[in-house]
This record gives sequence, C-alpha cells and structure tokens, in this order.
Amino acid sequence: MNFNVRSRGDHTSNVLTQQVKTYLEEFGLTYDEEEPEIVISIGGDGTLLEAFHQYSHRSDETSFVGVHTGHLGFYADWQPEEIEKLVIHIAKTPFKIVEYPLIEVVIRHTNEMETERYLALNECTVKSMEGSLVMDIEIKGDHFETFRGDGLCLSTPSGSTAYNKALNGAILHPSLASIQMAEMASINNRVYRTIGSPIVLPEHHTCLLKPKNDVDFQVTVDHLTLVQKKVKSIQVRVANEKIRFARFRPFPFWKRVKESFIAE
Ligand code: NAP
Repeated sequence: MNFNVRSRGDHTSNVLTQQVKTYLEEFGLTYDEEEPEIVISIGGDGTLLEAFHQYSHRSDETSFVGVHTGHLGFYADWQPEEIEKLVIHIAKTPFKIVEYPLIEVVIRHTNEMETERYLALNECTVKSMEGSLVMDIEIKGDHFETFRGDGLCLSTPSGSTAYNKALNGAILHPSLASIQMAEMASINNRVYRTIGSPIVLPEHHTCLLKPKNDVDFQVTVDHLTLVQKKVKSIQVRVANEKIRFARFRPFPFWKRVKESFIAE
C-alpha cells in the first residue's frame, strides 16, 4: 500500500511524521506523495484540511487518518502515544472506510473568466470586500431572501463544529448529507429582513447566491481565502464526492463532540 504523511510543521509533529514514515517503510509500505492510498495527517484539524485539499482530486482513492499533537480534533482523533498501534493497524489490518459529505462550490463570473469549482470539507464563507454583503439567495431555483449583513457561512455536517458553531449554527451528524447556511450579523429592521436562523438544506437542494452589486468578494473554502471579482453567482450544493476516513476503531461523533466541547 502507498502512503503519505503530512505534518503541521512544528517540532513534535515533524518528529512523529518521520517515525511513522520509517515504521511504515519497515513494514514494506511505499512512501508516495503523488498517489497515496492512505494519508496520515499529524497536527490538528487544520493539517487534515490541508491534506484533504492536496488530494481532493483523488477522493475515491485516498483515505485519511488524523493524529493530533495538540487538542483532540474532529478529524484528528489519534493521540501521539498511540502511533505504534496505529502504524501496526495500517500495515496489518484492512481498514473500514467511513465517508463524510463535502460541499461543492461553483463560482461563475460576469466576464469571460472560467468557472471555478471547489470542494469544501468544513465550509465556504462569503463576505464583501466593501461594505455589507448584499446578495439574493435562491434555494432550489426559487428566490428565498435578499441577505444584507457581514457574510454567510455554508458548512458541511463535519464542518458544523467549526466556523458554523461560532455563528450559533447547529451541530449536524455527518451521516446527514446536507448544507447548513448560517448568517454573520444580518441586518434586520423594517426595511431589510432575512430568516435570521441557520437553515439546513438536503442533498438535492442547491443554494445560489447572486450579488446585488458589482463589488469584490472574499470567499473562503476551508483554510483557503480567495478574492473574487466580477461574480455572477456562487452555487453551493452537496458534492457527489465524499471524503474517506480510515477507521480502525469506533469513535462515535457525539463522543467526539462531548470530549471537544464539554468534558473528557
Ligand atoms: P485556524 O484559524 O488556524 O484554526 C481554526 C480552528 O478550528 C482550529 O482550532 C482548528 O482545529 C479548528 N477546526 C478546524 N476544523 C474543525 C472542525 N471541523 N471542527 C472543529 N474544529 C475545527 O484555521 P485553520 O487551522 O486553517 O482551519 C480553517 C478553519 O478555521 C475553517 O475551515 C473554519 O472552520 C475555521 N474558522 C473558524 C472561525 C471561528 O470559529 N470564528 C473563524 C475562521 C475560521 P486544530 O487546532 O485542530 O487545527
């Protein structure tokens, strides 16, 4: 089996990365940065986000497993002390694959610029570079509202514990293939009105954001920040692709939520 190991870049993560690489090679596995079947991410959830984006074009062929060198993560759920156990699992046991939904973000422009397509593991956010964000929101082809405010966050279920949570969005179980749209400081008064609460769209509903004015936008896709000019629309829906996690033992999602946000 081919593998790659990605480090956050700090000393502890680099040392562990080297250990994992050496152990797996001793077990006869092949280090391959181009076409790995498994990627071991060592650092935090941010490290796994970066690893996912490096291989998002190989979603059917690459699985991920995360080791946390800081606090417990949603994607990074193995501890450094368990490295040897994890390596033996990877080398010796056929692993179970658990798939989590992703969102697809398609950005179209009013000029001849090519349409851009991104996959997000956590979320896509949209903010205006000048003043309030003013956008018409269509859901499944019908006008839903005109949003005015700081911005919008469209998250995956596994991303619902990230930025979305800070916006008072609900935490969704990753078995619910869906998109959650949460507002950032919407303007609500006698003139302007938005729904106000986060909404959750099912797999077959597309959300289309259409700018009301010709300004530049800051669009984030997970840890990536893009400046978008001449935007005609930003289309968000549940992607056909999924991320694959290699699971060697059960670690229920709600247990992870509890241990991350409430108590060990
Ligand atoms: P960062 O600003 O360095 O770290 C963001 C924090 O979010 C880190 O503590 C990270 O965990 C954690 N995180 C990432 N994915 C998570 C998930 N699915 N559930 C729970 N926590 C999660 O940025 P980054 O490391 O490049 O990560 C980018 C992410 O930051 C974005 O996708 C967005 O969700 C998040 N973010 C959150 C806010 C906010 O909460 N107000 C604002 C901007 C961005 P680790 O420490 O384990 O890496």
